[in-house]
Amino acid sequence: GAMRHLPYFCRGEVVKGFGRGSKELGIPTANFSEQVVESFPSDIPTGIYYGWACVGNGDVHKMVLSIGWNPFYKNIKKSVETHIIHTFKEDFYGEILSIVITGYIRPEKNFDSLDALISAIQEDIEEAKRQLDLPEHLKLKEDNFFHLPEGKIVNNC
Ligand code: ADP
Ligand code: MG
Repeated sequence: GAMRHLPYFCRGEVVKGFGRGSKELGIPTANFSEQVVESFPSDIPTGIYYGWACVGNGDVHKMVLSIGWNPFYKNIKKSVETHIIHTFKEDFYGEILSIVITGYIRPEKNFDSLDALISAIQEDIEEAKRQLDLPEHLKLKEDNFFHLPEGKIVNNC
């Protein structure tokens, strides 16, 4: 399923999401535009992934990413949201986010409570941090993709 699409490189503008309150939960997610989401392989499974991310030409950080069904479009379109495991001083709407997805954690799930959701995400973050320290994932942090000029077409993004 997921593995045959990885590693997956993507670059695109950060747009306003649909106010699910991710930031209020302490887990802000940078959303890609509909156009970028449409460029993903249509058969890439929904779920939680991890990899590397960089804003503009800033530093490369660990990230967790969700590919999910977009409630704004009555769950017929996907959304792709990246939580960067780093504390930023300011929001970065409108900036170019570059990501490489290197691994898959789990499918999408529904949770009985907000607490259960938050602790699942915290576990995802811990799992991502551990996996990304392994050589096969760590090597992609140094990929030339993160040092190429903006606008370079990769995976059609
Ligand atoms: P929205 O519904 O607009 O996506 P969120 O509550 O998910 O709102 O917050 C996402 C925004 O928070 C991002 O677009 C970005 O500008 C900002 N942000 C700040 N820190 C982070 C981070 N560590 N990871 C992702 N986004 C962050
Ligand atoms: Mg968001």
